[in-house]
Amino acid sequence: MKITSVKGMHDVGPPEISSWHRIEKVARSIFENAHFYELRTPPLEEEILFTRGIGNTTDIIEKEMYAFEDRKGRKLALRPEGTASIVRSFIEHYAATQQYERFYYIGPMFRYERPQKGRYRQFYQIGAEVFGAKHPFVDAEVIALAHEIFKTLGLKKVALHLNSLGCKVCRPDYRKALLEFLNELQSKLCEDCQKRILKNPLRVLDCKNASCTQHTQGAPAMFEHLCKDCVDHFEGVQQALRKFSIPYEVNPRMVRGLDYYERTAFEFLSGDLGAQNAVAGGGRYDDLVKDLGGPSVPGIGFAIGLERLVSLLALQESPSSERPKIFLAALGSAAQSWALTCMAQLRKTGFVTFSNFESHSLKHLLKHADKHKADYALIIGDNELQSGKIQIKDMKSQTQKEVPLDSVLAYFESLFPHKER
Ligand code: AMP
Repeated sequence: MKITSVKGMHDVGPPEISSWHRIEKVARSIFENAHFYELRTPPLEEEILFTRGIGNTTDIIEKEMYAFEDRKGRKLALRPEGTASIVRSFIEHYAATQQYERFYYIGPMFRYERPQKGRYRQFYQIGAEVFGAKHPFVDAEVIALAHEIFKTLGLKKVALHLNSLGCKVCRPDYRKALLEFLNELQSKLCEDCQKRILKNPLRVLDCKNASCTQHTQGAPAMFEHLCKDCVDHFEGVQQALRKFSIPYEVNPRMVRGLDYYERTAFEFLSGDLGAQNAVAGGGRYDDLVKDLGGPSVPGIGFAIGLERLVSLLALQESPSSERPKIFLAALGSAAQSWALTCMAQLRKTGFVTFSNFESHSLKHLLKHADKHKADYALIIGDNELQSGKIQIKDMKSQTQKEVPLDSVLAYFESLFPHKER
């Protein structure tokens, strides 16, 4: 019997893992410069955290949760997104003092969706959440962080779509106007949308069915129904985005798939992703902390989909940032013993160094070096030990150089200044 990974779930390993590391490094540094702390929450939570937080009528809760009972009958779920868990942890550990209010996370999320390109059942998100800030500039600051991550990674062709979803005051009025419009159309919409009209009419605007999109072209827009406070907030966000010189497009159809958002909602979209075109999404959730049993503290955040970001960066063929690799080809036990010490020294100085002590043929050793993409092979046997000189082979140019045994480290140090290691 062949045991494979679960449908829709993937191993992440070489060669693309280096792109994951690069993204994580860039994101961490940008978050930490903005005074964010990493928060690692368990992937398993009480199911009620998500049913109450995300909203019972969303696709995530209705169809996509990995929910089950443990051996003691506790209702648990694998997290389908990061925000609810971070809010739970904030309430549990930090809300009382509010000494820590800005968090970021990196980790796997789980949704039982139909797998397709860019849509998986386990996928990684890098996200950030800010608590305790109402000011619209903070919305723009958070958007700017995602923008900065993309810019630093050299990602091209992502468009920021922005909308305001209103608040408790003005959304009921909008909902009423939207329902009037949708009720007229009901029979022309897809089966899912007919159900959405009853349960969550805003989600009709988000339907990917071409016919639904066409029929709802003339739907009323939320921003025509915003209350004065929401209008001012939306204007403040846009003003700050202009200050940051971040281009954006107001998209009245962008409603997001989670119920907790109010006021600012945004997505970063790419034309290179096919049907699953969002690489990141986020928004403001001023009532979520309270709804989950915490104090009345506003929040805003976003999450970037790592698989989608990796695939976009791969399309751009960014230059390889791999460090030089050195292989030690040692023949005979005395040379192997010398190689062991040399390997430790090179590694300590920051060079990626490896060897193979199994083979006793130079041909095999060089083949091994080639297969594992070494940039240099250090060839050492009894003759080299006696003469006190080692052969350094440049695997790309296939040229060879003789270097004294005690100068190997100095040779590579002069070849690669510290930052390249
Ligand atoms: P959401 O939590 O739905 O707002 O998603 C935030 C980001 O996570 C999206 O913009 C995607 O990049 C990514 N994402 C969401 N669902 C999936 C999935 N099933 N597979 C891969 N990436 C996903």
